[in-house]
Amino acid sequence: MAVTHSLGFPRIGARRELKAALESYWAGTAELAELQQTGRRLREQHWRLQCGLDLVPVGDFAFYDQMLNMIALLGAVPERFGLGGQALTLERYFQLARGTSTQSALALTKWFDTNYHYLVPEFQRDTRFEPGTSWLFEEVEEALALRLRPKPVLIGPLTFLYLGRARETGFDRLELLPRLLPVYRDILRRLQDLGVQWVQLDEPALALDLPSAWLDAYGSAYGALAGAGPKLLLASYFGSVADRAALLKALPVAGLHLDAVRAPRQLDAFLADYPDDKVLSLGLIDGRNVWRTDLRQALERAAAAHAVLGERLWLAPSCSLLHVPVDLEPEAALDPAVKEWLAFAVQKLEELAILDKGLRLGKGAIAAELEASDRAVRLRAESPRIHDPAVKVRLQGLKEADFRRQAPFPERAALQRERLRLPSFPTTTIGSFPQTQEIRRARADHRKGEIGQEAYRDAMRQAIREAVRVQEELGLDLLVHGEAERNDMVEYFGEQLAGFAFTANGWVQSYGSRCVKPPIIYGDVSRPGPMTVEWIGYAQRQTRRPVKGMLTGPVTILQWSFVRDDQPRSATAWQIALAIRDEVEDLERAGVAAIQIDEPAFREGLPLRRDEWGGYLDWAAKAFRLAAAGVGDDTQIHTHMCYSEFGDILPAIADLDADVITIETSRAGMGLLDAFRDFRYPNAIGPGVYDIHSPRVPATEAMVGLLEQAAAVIPSERLWVNPDCGLKTRGWPEVEQSLAGMVAAAKAMRQRNPVATG
Ligand code: GLN
Ligand code: ZN
Repeated sequence: MAVTHSLGFPRIGARRELKAALESYWAGTAELAELQQTGRRLREQHWRLQCGLDLVPVGDFAFYDQMLNMIALLGAVPERFGLGGQALTLERYFQLARGTSTQSALALTKWFDTNYHYLVPEFQRDTRFEPGTSWLFEEVEEALALRLRPKPVLIGPLTFLYLGRARETGFDRLELLPRLLPVYRDILRRLQDLGVQWVQLDEPALALDLPSAWLDAYGSAYGALAGAGPKLLLASYFGSVADRAALLKALPVAGLHLDAVRAPRQLDAFLADYPDDKVLSLGLIDGRNVWRTDLRQALERAAAAHAVLGERLWLAPSCSLLHVPVDLEPEAALDPAVKEWLAFAVQKLEELAILDKGLRLGKGAIAAELEASDRAVRLRAESPRIHDPAVKVRLQGLKEADFRRQAPFPERAALQRERLRLPSFPTTTIGSFPQTQEIRRARADHRKGEIGQEAYRDAMRQAIREAVRVQEELGLDLLVHGEAERNDMVEYFGEQLAGFAFTANGWVQSYGSRCVKPPIIYGDVSRPGPMTVEWIGYAQRQTRRPVKGMLTGPVTILQWSFVRDDQPRSATAWQIALAIRDEVEDLERAGVAAIQIDEPAFREGLPLRRDEWGGYLDWAAKAFRLAAAGVGDDTQIHTHMCYSEFGDILPAIADLDADVITIETSRAGMGLLDAFRDFRYPNAIGPGVYDIHSPRVPATEAMVGLLEQAAAVIPSERLWVNPDCGLKTRGWPEVEQSLAGMVAAAKAMRQRNPVATG
């Protein structure tokens, strides 16, 4: 009755087969043909998993990234790669993704508010498009040969242009649209020749604040594509497009897809007077998160839409399943109670089939499934695993004062100067030191149970002693313990907190062959016991210089996890904040005088629409302050963020009221500090003086130059000297040389800028 389809399937493989194949090929240990074979096998496997659907997606597979596939398909390879007009080969496709000896790779950036990263198309005034690779057409033929009904999935022309970047000033990439559309028409025609009936054009840009010229262009663009070939399904997702309902309903496309998970209420704006000639695809199953669908509720929604739309109702997940792991079934080590509340890609497709059956044959036909779903919903709502009354009471009892340090920054700074006795232009690092073979092995062996607690502790202590010794010899002022015990800055804390679950293979692609395995926050969060005090305390006992405690902040832990959907994200963030606060207070009690709370993902949490930024920034900043504000005024709170677009969120960053913020600057240049000056950022700042992403040892003069630039903008008594980010991916020799230069640069600054310190 309702057509079922999916917007896309994870491509990396349930066991990360694509990652392994890519990395072997890149390392030169496998032939291109083997990689292509793996690709073909994965596509087939994934289609077979989806074969119960009326339409299966094709074109969602990519050897690196779906935007890069579009660049290849549209012949939009930037001229700087010197590849002429010919269609890309797979070897050259990887050059765009990974760079060459003379050309840097295309930029990587986050795909909307997901943790997936896409390669950014580059446009110039004279960019041309032309029919490129024929991979898509070959994949359609593969699917047809398996007797499936393929629905090719493409990024729509406006989203493709909008997500790209202009390589020259004074030109608007929207100008390229007339040149781009004929190539889309050509693709659609070729798909029709293959017998394709439906093509999905993804336009998630519709969930952003699009300038009116871009919105206006939808009418003419889709007008130009209509009639070129198969029927078009325009897919929106990740947010509401209700404010664009009139525009979308009037487009000459054969159907629209709406995300009814992220934005359930937008349905009203569409159902009221939905055009007779269009299908409406309803995304009822969450493609962004791992929770099992409440089938009864979803069926009710589907039935209500069906009453209006009849045969024109389609059912689907809310967005591509790229953002969830492949299969829950093999997760044998998960707590069975928690497992019952989850659904990964395979399970989500089963849910879709059940909904379809329920709609077709009535509730009775899926009575057992509905009952199982009800049971899971009920158990989850009532489970003591989720609900910790003590946490709820604590959250409810929070007072204004819990979010604020006692004294304002200038008074705190004076007390901290007295306690820490640091020179001007104090030097420090961001936390991690090189993760050597020995460190990794000790951690892995410990995890596998091959070495005992004692041996593991000795190995970590040795790494800490070594890190402290090097820092003392280099003459750094505020030391760190080096984070040897951490495999990942979120996982390390999640594993020690109540309310978190971990999977064995819950991998999600981040970019290219890189995957992450996000923790699942399923319940109220609390901290059963100290998480870092042992290591930081040990480090502090090795030296008379102050050692900085090192924690991951609540917003970052939230951002890089699958978050429970039964309460607002803000409530979960505050629960995590309270757990971190407990740790901060324990560190302070252990005599630690400076504590860093990393928030590299603070900016990533920004909502897609600007009018929602204020609400987010308010609760996110409060989460940080809740974590930090339990300490006395003479304890110094640091934070760290590694991105350089601060301009538009500076008030929120000031609102964190960290005593010191260390930030990444080298990629954007010290010019970004102008924003801090103009805003009169009140507290201390450590702008990164060298880029840690490269093994190159920076010249001391270059660092002095950067510090001079910074000192022209920020009063020197509020300037710190540090690298851009943590050093865990680097090797010791380059780290020692770079930090020696950095310390020398700080000394040079002290000589040139004598400041009276208390
Ligand atoms: N303290 C962390 C480290 O040094 C910070 C990492 C990050 O900013 N992403 O590794
Ligand atoms: Zn960083």
